[in-house]
Amino acid sequence: MSGLDTILSRLDADIRAENDWGDVAAYIPELAGVDPAQFGIAVATANGQCHVAGDWDTGFSVQSITKIFTLAVALGRSGDQLWHRVGREPSGLAFNSIVQLEQEQGRPRNPFINAGAIVTTDEVLGNRPPREALAEIVQFVRHAAGDENIHINERVAASETSFGHRNFALAHFLAAHDNLRNTPENTLGTYFHHCALEMTTRQLAMAGRFLVDAPGLPRLISTGRIRRLNALMMTCGHYDGSGDFAYRVGLPGKSGVGGGILAIVPGIASVAVWSPGLNRYGNSKKGTEALATLARQMNWSVF
Ligand code: GLU
Repeated sequence: MSGLDTILSRLDADIRAENDWGDVAAYIPELAGVDPAQFGIAVATANGQCHVAGDWDTGFSVQSITKIFTLAVALGRSGDQLWHRVGREPSGLAFNSIVQLEQEQGRPRNPFINAGAIVTTDEVLGNRPPREALAEIVQFVRHAAGDENIHINERVAASETSFGHRNFALAHFLAAHDNLRNTPENTLGTYFHHCALEMTTRQLAMAGRFLVDAPGLPRLISTGRIRRLNALMMTCGHYDGSGDFAYRVGLPGKSGVGGGILAIVPGIASVAVWSPGLNRYGNSKKGTEALATLARQMNWSVF
């Protein structure tokens, strides 16, 4: 066992011993039934190895973590055009807040809050049928992970569609401000489906390697774009908990309400954690704690 393997298995044992898991996201019925008492972690290093512990092989709903991949695809398609439609500032508000959108005339603060991700999805959609845009996003994720066995969970997508009133409100608001090119139904259909991608922590850590920027790792975007995506993850990746995450973990990361977090150690590793119980910001409680401990023990920080 390497030093990293020992650290990960000790981390897994410590997390389980504490037994205070947080609450799973209840607003998507399909996620409300997930047992919160689960924890998995995977670390894909620049030298090509992947170290794992706990429930690393359990598939979970990656939800907002897919916003990173969708953003990479959108920038690849339209370049900096996207920034006319969405900003790059932290929002300081909940992931699904509508308040700011009204105050700022339908231009979302950043591409990771829901409103911004809906605009980004609309950009990827262009004027194609949703299934073509989805195929491009899924293909990007599979290619990044080097794994064809990554799929969308249709039950989760349907569950979110039936109860997605807030996201429909955001999409209609964007349309009212002329910041949506497709119908709310088509854009949200695409959005809900990419959020419903299911992956294990190992698959997610492998997919995240395209943001590590080290020799020998998959190169899907330029170094400049890797740095800019990491900057957005650092400042906006955890909604109104982004400052706290930067303070505690010191690495760029993106969370999802399914309880996953992808964190990047530039030049060194891509780390995926999953524990479905969330903290008050809607980010994985145990996942955040595990990343803070791992970063401290490995002396990983961008600061
Ligand atoms: N699909 C979720 C939503 O739109 C994503 C939110 C998240 O993971 O933070 O509400």
